[in-house]
Amino acid sequence: MTRHDFDLFIIGAGSGGVRAARLAGQRGLRVAVAEDAALGGTCVNVGCIPKKLYSFAAHYAESFEEAHGFGWTLDAPSFDWATLKANRAAEIARLNRIYGELMTSVGVTLLRARARLVGAHAVEVDGVVHSAERLVVATGGWPVPADVPGGELAISSNEIFDLAEFPKRLVVIGGGYIACEFASIFNGLGAEVTQLYRGEQILRGFDDDVRDFVAAEMKKKGVDIRVGTNMLGLVRTSGGGIRVALSGGGELVADAVLCATGRAPNTAGLGLEAQGVALAPNGAVVVDEHYRSNVTSIHAVGDVIDRVQLTPVALAEAMALIDHLYGDGARCVDYTHIPTAVFTHPNIGTIGFSERDARARFEKIRVFRTDFKPLRHTLSGSSERTLMKLVVDAANDRVVGLHMVGADAGETIQGFAVAMKAGATKAVFDATLGIHPTAAEEFVTMRTPMVAS
Ligand code: NDP
Repeated sequence: MTRHDFDLFIIGAGSGGVRAARLAGQRGLRVAVAEDAALGGTCVNVGCIPKKLYSFAAHYAESFEEAHGFGWTLDAPSFDWATLKANRAAEIARLNRIYGELMTSVGVTLLRARARLVGAHAVEVDGVVHSAERLVVATGGWPVPADVPGGELAISSNEIFDLAEFPKRLVVIGGGYIACEFASIFNGLGAEVTQLYRGEQILRGFDDDVRDFVAAEMKKKGVDIRVGTNMLGLVRTSGGGIRVALSGGGELVADAVLCATGRAPNTAGLGLEAQGVALAPNGAVVVDEHYRSNVTSIHAVGDVIDRVQLTPVALAEAMALIDHLYGDGARCVDYTHIPTAVFTHPNIGTIGFSERDARARFEKIRVFRTDFKPLRHTLSGSSERTLMKLVVDAANDRVVGLHMVGADAGETIQGFAVAMKAGATKAVFDATLGIHPTAAEEFVTMRTPMVAS
């Protein structure tokens, strides 16, 4: 152990890297972390946290309108982009500090520069070579740039939080999590948003009902979703805008174009290939069930292994890795039934199989579905509706898919995720009393299957 400078050297202080460093530090190991950007990685700096803060900001627009129905009178509200940006930046800076303290308080050495592997046990940082018994690559992912003429005019989710001017006209490219969330957020904040998606319906892979429902709700709120449409190229206009040429003809002029067409593992320039570390065609580090690459001293967790690009998954992988290396090895990551939320307006919450996937996987399923006007909107004047859906494996009555589109869907389904993890059957859902009056109670009061197959 003592022949190396460190027991564990972690490249990247994002969700996975910080969690691994903290746990290893708590065990008294000699740990180093190299990070050349702000601590906390994508989630804290340009992902989950600032995105959710902006989503809260955007929801106020609706709340102001809806307040009238409940007796409130307000002066015309106005929105100040600079205030939101400054308050977000202050909060993120606070979190950056906390992330630093979480590591240094357990003795982790923080190296604030870019690291490069120079051996199976050696990392170079700022011209200094550090040796470690084990290395962990936790460098996350990076937005895929727009691959069209003029693509450099587009921004990614890295830049959108800090645009100098609020984009009055925003074009969003893509139909995944990031595209749909930012389309909703900027629409809520008052931008004129056009979302271009190349396929038939946004959010491929989600339940088809959910996709249609959320697309309809987003359109009602003002997002101009154009499916079967892609951008062909971008040109700067003389007025300072960006002209977007559309597949199928036509064009749009925008103040900003957000390209949200996926994220790729962040492995370029790390020196992995030179050390013989096997990478997938998209650059992901190939690891076994214990997050070990083909070079036995080198491990990887989080978005860089491109399994499931979600913060809680990176955290779980980091905990499993440290437990495997230094603990009793009992901890492992179960990739089934990972709950997830998309912070569209309204939110999506989902666990398990879509109806389509369940049909392909199980011999017979039962589907329960309801959509309704939530109680709040009986007075608010909003036409927003809520969708809830359960997919049940008829062979054993297990609930294998649970989906919601509606206010705070993520909050609602987190608890149901526990029930599903525990293998809850539809009979257990039926035997559970509702909490009245909530929207969530609908999940335990749906009695009549919509579809039998
Ligand atoms: P996604 O993979 O979710 O979506 C990418 C979108 O871009 C898809 O609609 C895809 O279309 C489209 N696309 C891909 N290539 C092209 C192209 N060349 N031209 C036009 N469109 C294209 O990626 P995101 O960037 O949205 O997000 C990355 C990951 O980050 C997510 O998968 C998720 O795991 C995570 N994330 C999670 C969040 C959350 O938990 N709330 C929030 C944000 C991100 P098609 O469907 O046709 O392939």
